[in-house]
Amino acid sequence: LSDRLSGVFDRLTKQGALSAEDVKTALREVRVALLEADVSLPVAREFIKAVEKQATGAAVTKSVTPGQQVIKIVHDELIGVLQGEGDPGKLKIDNPPAPILMVGLQGSGKTTTTAKLAKRLKDREGKRVLMASLDVNRPAAMEQLAILGQQIGVDTLPIVKGEDPVAIARRAKTQASLGGYDVYMLDTAGRLHIDHELIAQAAAVRDVANPRETLLVVDGLTGQDAVNVAEEFDDKIGVSGVVLTRMDGDGRGGAALSMRAVTGKPIRFVGLGERMDAIEEFHAERIAGRILGMGDIVSLVEKAQQTLEAEQAERMMKRFQKGQFNMNDLKMQLEQMQKMGGMEGMMQMMPGMGKMQKQMAEAGMDDSILRRQIALINSMTKKERANPALLQASRKKRVAAGAGLEVSELNKLIKQHRQMSDMMKKIGKMGKGGALKQMMR
Ligand code: GDP
Ligand code: MG
Repeated sequence: LSDRLSGVFDRLTKQGALSAEDVKTALREVRVALLEADVSLPVAREFIKAVEKQATGAAVTKSVTPGQQVIKIVHDELIGVLQGEGDPGKLKIDNPPAPILMVGLQGSGKTTTTAKLAKRLKDREGKRVLMASLDVNRPAAMEQLAILGQQIGVDTLPIVKGEDPVAIARRAKTQASLGGYDVYMLDTAGRLHIDHELIAQAAAVRDVANPRETLLVVDGLTGQDAVNVAEEFDDKIGVSGVVLTRMDGDGRGGAALSMRAVTGKPIRFVGLGERMDAIEEFHAERIAGRILGMGDIVSLVEKAQQTLEAEQAERMMKRFQKGQFNMNDLKMQLEQMQKMGGMEGMMQMMPGMGKMQKQMAEAGMDDSILRRQIALINSMTKKERANPALLQASRKKRVAAGAGLEVSELNKLIKQHRQMSDMMKKIGKMGKGGALKQMMR
């Protein structure tokens, strides 16, 4: 999905003015992309219709950045489809002890997700949670939950050999009442495929526990299969929400869109790894960004526009093209970064930047570096800022001392300035206004 879409959007962003025909062509591609991502035909059609109406409106074609406007409309519409009603992260757990039933295929991540959610409820809401494994098919599965429970400090129902799932559910219910628990979670057994027995068992447990939430756990990497599974489970057991796991993988989130469009079930949480804190409540914007294959680039564009006035950008661009890039320019850029939420804020909005962010944090490159660098530049004289070559030993000492920092930090800043200055010259040469204009937009 993402390859095709990013191609389309690349073309759109490169164009200045946009005709109705441009929009139509682009949206045809979007439509095909959606269909390829297993979105049903009527849904894709509806989606395109809604986008087209907005995208060919006067506001867009008259706008100075029509390409970006269309991207934003597609993006917003995606969010509209992805967004379910209510707060995805809010589990219904009033009237203690509140039962939560976890269902899904084997290996989808039920047991892991059960423990992750239990930890969340305990840590964030101070709830007392009891977890029970109903997976009698695999004794190791019960052990697995017990071990996770110990790890996160959440109680698990003691294992009694030879009990069937319904009996375990009953015992969990009793234990939860007697023990004064706020929530009890039932982690059911899964199968590799949906079959009658699996459904019958889950239904029997449901009838005993009468769950406040029935969460279906599905592997987000399985695409259309995930949707079929969801429809089947919802039909037979009734689910109150979906948890998509393995969203830390390469999948682009197409499953999320199909899931929403086809089943209409709200996606409540997203699993992002094997660790116990690798879960977050569902954010439609994040998934929309992933489907578009560009992180949250739309909001990055918006923020950049808000903070960097066009006029200022134009002026800077002209100077860069002439190969002029002094400490004042660097300072402006550093301040710009600060306004956009610092390194962390920017990294979070760019696809694939998570790892880099971690590395930077480990290397001590955090937001305080922006502050320190700005302090160093502030401590320079006007002349030094305009011509950093003046900064020799004695001046360096004075500047560093003025900012209360080491000369070594100043040296790093000077080096960074030199590298950026070289880069700006290159870009300036590459074609007046081409690449750079693209960047500054
Ligand atoms: P169950 O059979 O449905 O109970 O599945 P498990 O909870 O035992 O999970 C199966 C495997 O998937 C385990 O190795 C988990 O660590 C892993 N897993 C679960 N959720 C995620 C996730 O969100 N991301 C990743 N990368 N792995 C996950
Ligand atoms: Mg399990």
